[in-house]
Amino acid sequence: MEIQGYKFSPTLEEIYQEITSTAPSLKLDFETVDEQPVKGRNAIQGVDPEGRRIIRIEKNSLNESVISHELLHCYLDLKGYPKLSTLCVENNIINYFAMRTEESIIHKLICQEQDKRGITRTDDLEYAKSISDDLEWEPMSPEAQIFYSMKILDILIRTSEWKEFYETSLRYRFKNSYQYAERLWDKVMSKDFQTPFETRRAMIRVLKELENIIAENGLEPLNLSMNVATGFIPSARQLDENIFDLFEVYKDFLTDPYTGEKVWVLVSKAEDQASFFVLPGENFEESLTDKTLRELYKEWKVSYTLR
Ligand SMILES: [Zn+2]
Repeated sequence: MEIQGYKFSPTLEEIYQEITSTAPSLKLDFETVDEQPVKGRNAIQGVDPEGRRIIRIEKNSLNESVISHELLHCYLDLKGYPKLSTLCVENNIINYFAMRTEESIIHKLICQEQDKRGITRTDDLEYAKSISDDLEWEPMSPEAQIFYSMKILDILIRTSEWKEFYETSLRYRFKNSYQYAERLWDKVMSKDFQTPFETRRAMIRVLKELENIIAENGLEPLNLSMNVATGFIPSARQLDENIFDLFEVYKDFLTDPYTGEKVWVLVSKAEDQASFFVLPGENFEESLTDKTLRELYKEWKVSYTLR
């Protein structure tokens, strides 16, 4: 494999092969750009309307650290690791917290995988530098501090062995943000996570702690437990359980900001956290009666990962 003359190392080839053998029909393309629109991000990836996955990398970031990071994001997605979603428009704060939470939790797995494969994570060090240089002093408003704590959390997750250096430089400059980030970090690390199921639980721990921090600051609640859908990773036994035993069904709870349609929320009882947003068809509620999770997945034509 080669991107604009940059030849994949055997380590990168290996990850690439694992992706193609996990999803043989996947269309994966690479593009290079001179500069990314967001500072501190040298690569982004997305899926276009035809289902083609595109990894867009800055020309001067074509190296093993950056490419492996992106390939591993893709690989973990294909392996059924959770994706968080919201109904919010792009720059919404709820969306920001959801995307940051998902990313940082997945980053812990990516770093671990890179270390295991002997990849030097030069990019993480540069990233941490660029982020900690971003702001000189802590912002005054609690909103902005909590916002910033998500960036610090990502640094803590991605710098591991250099953590101490950043700790001292960040802890005093960003007193509150750092403290919040540390609380989130404690929640992340309170239980090890490797499997998709454990990883989803780690994401939920972060969302709940964020809500606590928001409440302690007297800010308006974001209701992340309803506004962020986390999917569901059932055990084999749960597949044959009734929908109403697994989920609390909240009718017309949210409104799609683009279409104005009422959306129902299926909240997982085990974690008190939204799993799915549903646009109910006619007789949706009745159709759920006696329906098992397996049947619902089949109807939705979604693939799922077991716990
Ligand atoms: Zn990433």
